[in-house]
Amino acid sequence: MKAIVFSTHGAPDVLKYADAPDPAIRSNEVLVRVKACALNHLDLWVRRGIPGVPIPLPHIPGSDISGEIAQIGADISTVRVGQKVVLAPLVSCGKCTACVAGLDNHCRQATNLGYMIDGGCADFVRAPEVNCLPYPENLSFEEAASIPLVFQTAWHMLLARAELQPGEDVLVLGAGSGVGSAAIQIAKFFGARVIATASTDEKLQKAKQLGADYLINHKTQKIRDEVRRITNKRGVDVVFEHVGTATWDDSLASLAAGGRLVTCGATTGYDAKVDLRFLFTRQLSLLGSYMGTKSELQTVMKLVAAGKLKPIVDRVFPLAEAAAAHTYLESSSQFGKVVLKV
Ligand SMILES: [Zn+2]
Repeated sequence: MKAIVFSTHGAPDVLKYADAPDPAIRSNEVLVRVKACALNHLDLWVRRGIPGVPIPLPHIPGSDISGEIAQIGADISTVRVGQKVVLAPLVSCGKCTACVAGLDNHCRQATNLGYMIDGGCADFVRAPEVNCLPYPENLSFEEAASIPLVFQTAWHMLLARAELQPGEDVLVLGAGSGVGSAAIQIAKFFGARVIATASTDEKLQKAKQLGADYLINHKTQKIRDEVRRITNKRGVDVVFEHVGTATWDDSLASLAAGGRLVTCGATTGYDAKVDLRFLFTRQLSLLGSYMGTKSELQTVMKLVAAGKLKPIVDRVFPLAEAAAAHTYLESSSQFGKVVLKV
């Protein structure tokens, strides 16, 4: 099969469009003929190399996958060959205490398709049967591939971790990102008031179309000052963080008393400072979040199929141009998802 393969970590040019062996499935796995694979910041980290994470090389990246089932293992009973499918990215052991509790994102052996195991930037990918999600027939393959990772992550952050309540104020940073555009929609679905930030007015107008109530251009305006103005000096109940060092101080300063900051990433850096006096006197909560559970993703898929949540595709590249797609994602000029068409 053809695949995007890298044998060494580095810049986008390490990504080669090359021949790779067809994946061999186990009895509990399916082989999926990939139609589309959406990119995430995770793909950039995996390609560059992450200290302490020995990614097996050569490696095929790609976590967000849609396609058709081409072959099934001997023990498969819930899906059939030819069926359209979206894959849940998280592959867990299915046996540990966390997994049997339904908290597969707490599984110590869990990884993502395209992270420690081969992913979907290829003609074919193998995945466990349990990762097969019902295909939302209202969506194209490119749209369908744009759902899992960002919507699952944003859902878990806002609901499981931050316990968002109707009527609360939410600050969504980086509205132009995949996870940001998902967070705006989920927060609005649950009746929150949303303040969105982005780097350009064009992105902010798109955020508004998704339901954002207030807009902050973080290149020309100071986030904490605008939040204070919009909320009458109160601050927001929830800050949706994934930017890291560049926004951290503003994020903390934007919280109301009793506010919760929830973070799933740090695209601008890991270093952050917390003034502990501020943390305890204002009774703030700092919450980490990682991926989401399969059951949360199943709920998301139902809402997507019902048209309540919609993936935002910014731009589609052919698989062979994965390096150009990575460069484009790194430029942060997109609004929504960058997708490879296979
Ligand atoms: Zn497990």
